Amino acid sequence: MKTTFDVLVAGAGAGGICAALAAARSGAKVLLLEKADKVGGTGVHSPVSLICKFHGTDHRPINLGIHRELFPFAYLHSTQDFRPRAPRLTYDEQDLYQKYLALLAAEPMLTVATGEGVQSVQMSGRRIAEICTDLGRKVSAAVYIDATANGNLSAMAGCRAMKGREGDGALQSATLVFGMGNIDKKKLIVPEFKTRGGLSSLWRELTALYRKAKEEGRTVNPKSSVVAFPYPDGNRLLFNSNEITGVDPTMPGAEEEAKQKGQVLVNELIDILREHPAFKEASIEFVAHKMGIREGRRIVGDYVLNEADCLGEARFEDMIAACAYEIDIHDPEGGPTRMVNIPGSGYYHIPYRSLVAADTENLLMGSRCISGTHEAHSSYRVISGVSAIGQAAGTAAALAAKYTGGEIRQVRPEWIRYVLREQVQFVEGDLVCPPDWKSPYSE
Ligand SMILES: Cc1cc2nc3c(=O)[nH]c(=O)nc-3n(C[C@H](O)[C@H](O)[C@H](O)COP(=O)(O)OP(=O)(O)OC[C@H]3O[C@@H](n4cnc5c(N)ncnc54)[C@H](O)[C@@H]3O)c2cc1C
Repeated sequence: MKTTFDVLVAGAGAGGICAALAAARSGAKVLLLEKADKVGGTGVHSPVSLICKFHGTDHRPINLGIHRELFPFAYLHSTQDFRPRAPRLTYDEQDLYQKYLALLAAEPMLTVATGEGVQSVQMSGRRIAEICTDLGRKVSAAVYIDATANGNLSAMAGCRAMKGREGDGALQSATLVFGMGNIDKKKLIVPEFKTRGGLSSLWRELTALYRKAKEEGRTVNPKSSVVAFPYPDGNRLLFNSNEITGVDPTMPGAEEEAKQKGQVLVNELIDILREHPAFKEASIEFVAHKMGIREGRRIVGDYVLNEADCLGEARFEDMIAACAYEIDIHDPEGGPTRMVNIPGSGYYHIPYRSLVAADTENLLMGSRCISGTHEAHSSYRVISGVSAIGQAAGTAAALAAKYTGGEIRQVRPEWIRYVLREQVQFVEGDLVCPPDWKSPYSE
């Protein structure tokens, strides 16, 4: 059986969900396909804890889109919480999951299918004609959005891709995260780890124990310190504390193999932590069932966003999203993380051309697989960046389906920005109302 939609989105992580919501809210008939049993992707199933920076230096949010619906409290707390000494803003992955379900269920134009991934793509010249799912369903759409994080849909469509850093192609390290609760905080030097000072003190205490164990050869984890973040309740901790190197998620079996290595490192660290009186009776809340992958394919688009653009606060004529998060490269060899702030205004533009797959006419990227270098990707890959990218991709796809027969290059960035602005998203540059545009927000 074959079904037809205006927009097909593959992958239901932060990018895909925001893309699907934006397309449906712009009047398109949308199918969101997720190969896992549940929606949510990395931010839910390999939870990542931090609401990363989405403000410019002047404290203005540069993401006012669906990201705000996902994390309303981060906006209520205002910009104060991004001051260096303020508590880290974190989220609970179960709350995020419930929010995703509620937002998706509220869209009548949107169909969500889980446990059904894209398995193959049929091309007609430079256009995707239809896809086939792993359940054997054939689906065609005017526009396709690759929100699979690793560019899986684009690869099936034969698009060129980049992988890893220039020179040796090495990818950022991967991490298996885990959570712990029932921590006896009274036995910590600073018994409150929700404050920045308390959190630093916790890291110092745990890192001292960990380094000693490392010297004694009780762990093979290359990471040099223990990093954990408190959940919003202030009682549980999410550990982002191992580095698994050499993981290429595009190779069959690589994630499973990495997960086995990660489980060894998790067990080693838990044994070490239990030597601290505060963690003696602590409970293991969970070990992520999905490996935390930071980097995979980056699909070649009409423009390749690079580090100089990020650090040079790039302003593009075809801007459709912005990002304020640092360059943040987890070393492919497991060494220290490279972090570089975006200077000046504190944010850079993401151009529409970086979402347009160079080798096709009707495929957009809507997650961290957009066209950028290893360094630029390390910045926009966080949920604030990816959600803005997804929202822009979904909006552009809906416009292409309505006005241009799916030809994504004929969609004017000014139209995309106009509709994004209607959705209250932050945009900069000229706005042009698409012809006879009937705003779904005007009724
Ligand atoms: C350990 C770790 C810590 C991090 N810490 C933070 C942090 O603190 N804050 C932050 O903001 N970001 C953090 N990040 C980064 C951020 O979480 C991710 O980059 C972001 O969530 C990726 O979103 P996405 O939509 O691009 O991809 P994903 O969320 O990975 O979603 C992609 C989806 O596509 C699906 N898929 C794949 N192939 C197919 C197919 N063929 N058909 C259909 N579906 C398919 C997958 O199952 C998946 O659900 C961290 C990442 C890691 C790994």
